[in-house]
Amino acid sequence: MVVHAVVCLERVLMSLDCPGCGSDNVRRLSLVYEDGLHAFAGDGRDAAVALGTPGLGVQLGSSKARGTIQTAASAIATPPARHSYRPGLFLMIIALALVGPILGSRLVALALFLLGAVLLGRAVRYNRTIWPDDLLRWRATFRCQRCGRSFIPATDGGGSFGISS
Ligand SMILES: [Zn+2]
Repeated sequence: MVVHAVVCLERVLMSLDCPGCGSDNVRRLSLVYEDGLHAFAGDGRDAAVALGTPGLGVQLGSSKARGTIQTAASAIATPPARHSYRPGLFLMIIALALVGPILGSRLVALALFLLGAVLLGRAVRYNRTIWPDDLLRWRATFRCQRCGRSFIPATDGGGSFGISS
């Protein structure tokens, strides 16, 4: 009962009108993203018969295509991605496995290892500290269907604030 009352109070206090043009035709950014993704899959089979001077030729072929088509609006509304650990790990593995023993240059191996460690550390720090906030901000963001402005609705009645896109 208390939770229901809090949710109702939130709806009353939260204005979903666009702060740019005042339109109430807004959508959550996550829905804009999801609605703009379309998966496709197709199979094709072809056959051809040709008669020429060397003789009769027969060609059979098949193809399969799978993928995803994304609209421009969906591409703008793409959620923040985690940073990959691969570049840092790759450099560290190269430093350990190849450069040191093969080339005998421990200084180059150490430099590559340290560079890989820095890249890995930056990715870990981003994914643990910044990315969760970016994802929460993305989930809370709405997009105006009239003017295209992205914004996070204010819940305190003090007005929404825009997000640059
Ligand atoms: Zn607007």
